[in-house]
Amino acid sequence: MAEKPSEAEPKCQCPYCEEELQAVLAPFCSACGARIVYCQVCHVPVDKESGVCPECGRPAR
Ligand SMILES: [Zn+2]
Ligand SMILES: [Zn+2]
Repeated sequence: MAEKPSEAEPKCQCPYCEEELQAVLAPFCSACGARIVYCQVCHVPVDKESGVCPECGRPAR
């Protein structure tokens, strides 16, 4: 399988309901109201259940 390099902007997706967030780095999901925690390094939403960033593996705080 060939992976295409993606030049698109990183999508901010709610880790709970998987809705795309309306605002980048929105503190809350507008769809389910869950509080979103972001990796301070990658600025991607961190799944609160795993507690680590899916990109770099750092624990969220
Ligand atoms: Zn949500
Ligand atoms: Zn990260």
